Amino acid sequence: MMSPKLKAIAKENHWHFCKNSVFGLFNESYFQIDDGHGFKKMTSYYNEITEETRQTLLNNLLENKNELKIKEVTVKLNSLSLTFSERFLSVKKETLKAVLEFVANLLKANSVLSMNKCSQCNSSDFLEYYFHPTIETSKMICHTCVEKNENDYSQQERNKMYEEKYYLRGLLGAFLFAMAGIIVWVIIAFYLRQLTSLGAIVLGLLSFHGYKYFKGTMNNKAKWMLFAIIILSIVLANFISVGVDIYAYNHGIDIRDIVLNLFYNDAISSVVKENTLISLALSAIPFYYINNFINTKMNLTKWVLAKKMKA
Ligand SMILES: [Zn+2]
Repeated sequence: MMSPKLKAIAKENHWHFCKNSVFGLFNESYFQIDDGHGFKKMTSYYNEITEETRQTLLNNLLENKNELKIKEVTVKLNSLSLTFSERFLSVKKETLKAVLEFVANLLKANSVLSMNKCSQCNSSDFLEYYFHPTIETSKMICHTCVEKNENDYSQQERNKMYEEKYYLRGLLGAFLFAMAGIIVWVIIAFYLRQLTSLGAIVLGLLSFHGYKYFKGTMNNKAKWMLFAIIILSIVLANFISVGVDIYAYNHGIDIRDIVLNLFYNDAISSVVKENTLISLALSAIPFYYINNFINTKMNLTKWVLAKKMKA
């Protein structure tokens, strides 16, 4: 949850936001403020400065550190960041605004050219804001460069034909591991009875492990195919395990009669139905895990288009 203070600052200055960060221009300087656990962090990105300027900025900030209620100061050649401790009380909005004001003036006074243009071509028209969740960095880029990058991206997509091969290989792995899961399930069901529904969790994770083991590509398509494989395997495992039961207690019964019993013997089919529903409900656990895993994997390498804070 982003703090209402950051939201308010973002609204006042027409900034953008993504995850727990807000960012945009303040007096022509570019700022990003992150909401952390027990702290807030303010970063300003600018064009590369000299070591001399870096020292001047650092000294100035250190001198005013206490007055501005800043806990830590870091000044690099292309960015500076300030941390505010929130161990007991959260930082006041007025404090943050005073520091924004102070830093923007400081940068101006030292002729530091702030990053207020496209990070790729220096154009200042039609800027868009992007955020990278892993490195928690924002950037602005013009619409032309976004389009150019997207064209490059679709070029890459074409190269994904190769990756498609890995995707199918992964699904084969998921299928093989799921089959192994079904066999284990049927054996456990036969000897231990009650534990069968829990097999849904094992089967789901096993199937996902198979996909990973065969180095399948992590994308949305893979996610849905995995879900389909797992659901089918769970239904199959339930039918087979009850089928094996019927076979074990009715010597000499043939496959056709087993199948007829599974579907048309009310006593048996209701057991199968109930078991299947319970195990499908339990499969929510591996689904949740797989969904999170793949989403995180996909986001790791991606810049996300930030939204504008609505007034
Ligand atoms: Zn550009």
